Amino acid sequence: MNAIAASPVRWYKRPRPTTAPSGFSARLDEALELLREASRHSPCVFAHSLSAEDMVIFHLIVEHHFPIQSFALDTGKLPEATLDLWSRAETIYSTRIERVSPAEASVDALVAMSADSALYESKSVRLRCCELRKTEPLRAVLAGKQAWVTGLRRAQSVGRATMNASEFDHGFQLYKFSPLINWTDEDVWYFTDKYKIPYNVLYGKGYASIGCNPCTRPIRESEPARAGRWWWEQTDPNAIKSECGIHVSAHPSSTSKEVQ
Ligand code: SF4
Repeated sequence: MNAIAASPVRWYKRPRPTTAPSGFSARLDEALELLREASRHSPCVFAHSLSAEDMVIFHLIVEHHFPIQSFALDTGKLPEATLDLWSRAETIYSTRIERVSPAEASVDALVAMSADSALYESKSVRLRCCELRKTEPLRAVLAGKQAWVTGLRRAQSVGRATMNASEFDHGFQLYKFSPLINWTDEDVWYFTDKYKIPYNVLYGKGYASIGCNPCTRPIRESEPARAGRWWWEQTDPNAIKSECGIHVSAHPSSTSKEVQ
């Protein structure tokens, strides 16, 4: 056995900052201002994925009484740990997170194409699965709304590094706000620990980004945060760009504009 093979795998460990990261207070103020601005575009909804950043936003919405309704996409493929967090969060905050599910006909269509196994071999099947389980239900819930809030952060991936804090989302035809756009990993976990915000237990098992069960894996300490999402499609682990389609369609950089 050589030295490399004998080395134990060092899995991702989430940060545990005990003091406020430099510049944190300004980034918190910015997040609150963006939520305030989003609220002015009524009705405004929050697309809650139960991620650590989304739990921070949910905490801010509830604690500051922003008139923003939260919903989450129940794709039918979420890990048990995510479903458990969903119900814990509703209990702790006494606030409902509306459940948005794919249409029965869409699920039947995916079963007919054996999408669960075929998505690893065919990117078009994988994208179709994301379209039917995520994008279509999202489109339905966003219809008639004036704005939506997301937990996107520029630090999450190369593909997200140029996203705007606020813009008109041409894909879904409403304003889009990302209050934590400038937050670092340390910011998210500092705030989470400080206010004892509940989070997914998978963060303690090597997961840095958590989506559907078949398309999420833990990452090594050296990998980028989103390397565990659709990992079989990644050719360059340092330039992770895969998305489910929701934020790709929402970010036509050539046409996006800042919210006035
Ligand atoms: S992340 Fe995977 S399981 Fe979830 S909708 Fe997309 S392809 Fe389907």
